[in-house]
Amino acid sequence: MPDTAGVKVLVYHWVDHHPGRKLRAWGMTPSTFAAQMTALAEGGYEVLSLGEVLQAVRGERPPSPKAVALTFDDGYRNLLDHVLPVLKRFGFRASFFLVSDRVGGTNSWDARHGDPPRPLMGWNEAAALAAEGMEIGSHSRTHPFLTNLSEPEMEDEIRGSKETIEDRLGRPVRFFSYPHGLHDERCRRLVAAAGYSGACSTRFGVNAVGTDPFRLRRSEISFYDNAWSFSFKARTGFGVRAWATETLGGLLPRFVGGPRGVAP
Ligand SMILES: [Zn+2]
Repeated sequence: MPDTAGVKVLVYHWVDHHPGRKLRAWGMTPSTFAAQMTALAEGGYEVLSLGEVLQAVRGERPPSPKAVALTFDDGYRNLLDHVLPVLKRFGFRASFFLVSDRVGGTNSWDARHGDPPRPLMGWNEAAALAAEGMEIGSHSRTHPFLTNLSEPEMEDEIRGSKETIEDRLGRPVRFFSYPHGLHDERCRRLVAAAGYSGACSTRFGVNAVGTDPFRLRRSEISFYDNAWSFSFKARTGFGVRAWATETLGGLLPRFVGGPRGVAP
């Protein structure tokens, strides 16, 4: 399986010795995370910033099949202990998306699932990440289901979080990550109007020339990924099942004599 051209953006949540119970799939142990970063370094991957991903989708940067970007949603406190030292060891940059009204608090939006709350980083810790060259983005004010909100509420989450983070950190916030991956045309429009340069979805896939910068594709890395399935995501931008659906879904009509050149 060769590397698919285009940047693969990986998304993580917490990295902790206790990855959780109900929500365990979204977590990762420190040793697994370190092994994954080692695999990227030894595999010759170039780790791009999201600004460089934008250059790639605009065609301003030569395409590289071995390019990934690293993103962390929600802003967990444990990332300072278990992620930052590993990123520094390899010289990798990453983007961290904060929930601006919950900074220094916990992931209260996940309370309904029953796992113990996880501490979120405070402003000083976010500033420390920024000082290390990490990108700090917005993941809304309160982590709502954005598409359920009225447009004024949606705008408050999108624009208000950007303003708060910029005030607290004294630097521009250029990227948004849709909470729960949920977005619609209104969200996309409001994110662009608020002055963001791009936004991350949770749709699998690669980012290449022509990808919508406000719907960047990402691959969720799960607790249940092993070395092989992690490598598959880094090479293709897809989980195995999603890849099979996309690839075979596109190829099957040819084998059964379906029309060519018609978008599905
Ligand atoms: Zn989130």
